[in-house]
Amino acid sequence: MPEPILQIEHLSHAYGDRVAVDDLNLTVQPGEIFGFLGPNGSGKTTLFRILSTLIPVRDGEVSLFGLDLKTQREAIRQQIGIVFQSPSLDKQLTATENLRHQGHLYGLSGKDLERRIDEMLARVGLSERPREYVSTFSGGMRRRVELAKGLLHRPRLLLLDEPSTGLDPGARIDLWQYLREIREKDGVTILVTTHLLDEAEHCNRLAIMDHGKLIACDTPAALKDQIGGDIITLTADDPAALRTAIREKFAVDAVILGNTLRIERDRGHEFIPPLVEAFPGMIRSVSLGKPTLEDVFVRVTGRRFEGET
Ligand code: ADP
Ligand code: MG
Repeated sequence: MPEPILQIEHLSHAYGDRVAVDDLNLTVQPGEIFGFLGPNGSGKTTLFRILSTLIPVRDGEVSLFGLDLKTQREAIRQQIGIVFQSPSLDKQLTATENLRHQGHLYGLSGKDLERRIDEMLARVGLSERPREYVSTFSGGMRRRVELAKGLLHRPRLLLLDEPSTGLDPGARIDLWQYLREIREKDGVTILVTTHLLDEAEHCNRLAIMDHGKLIACDTPAALKDQIGGDIITLTADDPAALRTAIREKFAVDAVILGNTLRIERDRGHEFIPPLVEAFPGMIRSVSLGKPTLEDVFVRVTGRRFEGET
């Protein structure tokens, strides 16, 4: 087993009385694309800021590349690339100028820096437009310049906070294609936070967070497999009454979410006809699907995954 690239033990962080990260434990191996998935307010950005060395570790232990985040922040900073949720480019400059400026901040210069800028612009598919102002770029192109910027100093680990924010679906797909290439061609481990369930599906492993706590951690496929079977979703005018009726007649438990009921069930298609026949007039609609990451969240928290936008 190689040395973990990130190890978090009993990490907590509070703002005054408000606990944002709550006794977190996890390990990330080199070469993973690892995602932190959680609704708004679940502590993702706080964790991102701690790992990016922007807020100090107060409670618990974090090591990156075997270095202690409490005492070796400078050495760690050299080996991480950071892409913030809010744009950090100077729009009045070209892509090359933005990268050159970033390079200088990391002590790169001369031919080495110029070569590296060309390499990274090529990596994110922007070789054709080095001398155009960033203000003329689409949202997706700007994000890719941010990626190149985060990678310029050859970090071993790239941290991204909600990288798809504000991107249209096509640009999101592109972004993930570039992230996979960065991992494969540059050997960079990637940590992303997201509140988007579809984006989380791209990760090799996921930590699902809720109120600062880790509620599940595994590959997206394994997380969904834990549920097994199918998910039957019913809408009803009176979900509570329907739930009681289903329990009495079939000894099956359903979870109420708004005006819907969710039932986890093997061979769900076989359960639908008797269900519909048993309660005439009570069920407005029925749908059947394979478990999603939202179902994993519902299973653990009993709540719907908010913030899907
Ligand atoms: P996420 O990125 O998952 O939306 P955050 O880490 O931003 O979560 O927030 C986690 C919790 O901490 C929320 O309750 C949020 O209101 C609170 N919080 C975040 N930043 C601050 C801050 N600077 N001061 C006080 N509370 C904060
Ligand atoms: Mg956030």
